[in-house]
Amino acid sequence: MIGGGNSALEEAMYLTRYAEHCFLIHRRDNFRASLYLQEELKKYPAITTLLSRTVRKIEGDGNRVNVLVLENKNTGKIETIDVDGIFISVGQKPNVEFIDGKVEQNPAGYIITDYKMQTSVKGIFACGDVIRKSLYQVVTACSEGAIAAYSAEIYLSSKDSSDII
Ligand SMILES: Cc1cc2nc3c(=O)[nH]c(=O)nc-3n(C[C@H](O)[C@H](O)[C@H](O)COP(=O)(O)OP(=O)(O)OC[C@H]3O[C@@H](n4cnc5c(N)ncnc54)[C@H](O)[C@@H]3O)c2cc1C
Repeated sequence: MIGGGNSALEEAMYLTRYAEHCFLIHRRDNFRASLYLQEELKKYPAITTLLSRTVRKIEGDGNRVNVLVLENKNTGKIETIDVDGIFISVGQKPNVEFIDGKVEQNPAGYIITDYKMQTSVKGIFACGDVIRKSLYQVVTACSEGAIAAYSAEIYLSSKDSSDII
């Protein structure tokens, strides 16, 4: 598992259900994940943490990945480890290219909505992982989807679109 945030740590722990051993590789000296998850990680002897390592190369045998080449940022030493698979969890980027710049977005690109899921452009509603919010989960995406659909329906059926709730 490559990454140092909450997702990377959670997924590494989850992987130990299926993998004999898991390497958790992060380029910084410390994880960005919550302290709670960092404490939880200590309960998993099947996870070896490799900090300050940058992935230099991913090698395969033509069918599958089998070797990871890492650079130890502190020593400059090149290390190789044998692996059966790689999972990369190094951050997220909203998939908003099709609407970039047409609605208000925050500096990271997430679309800004109000409580009706209305964007800065009347009649354009947004929901789910592309909007700015605090919790990116299926349950919040579904709830916002319902609100966005409801708002859109009112917008389309209303003679005076200014009277959306
Ligand atoms: C590794 C990982 C683990 C997660 N674990 C959990 C978890 O345990 N519990 C939980 O609740 N949430 C979890 N999440 C978060 C959850 O998956 C998302 O919050 C949720 O799926 C967001 O729903 P969405 O509909 O906004 O986006 P998505 O589910 O990503 O759906 C967007 C859809 O739009 C399609 N699409 C994209 N661009 C276009 C286009 N231009 N035209 C047409 N279609 C397009 C995509 O193909 C996709 O089908 C996890 C996410 C990740 C990455």
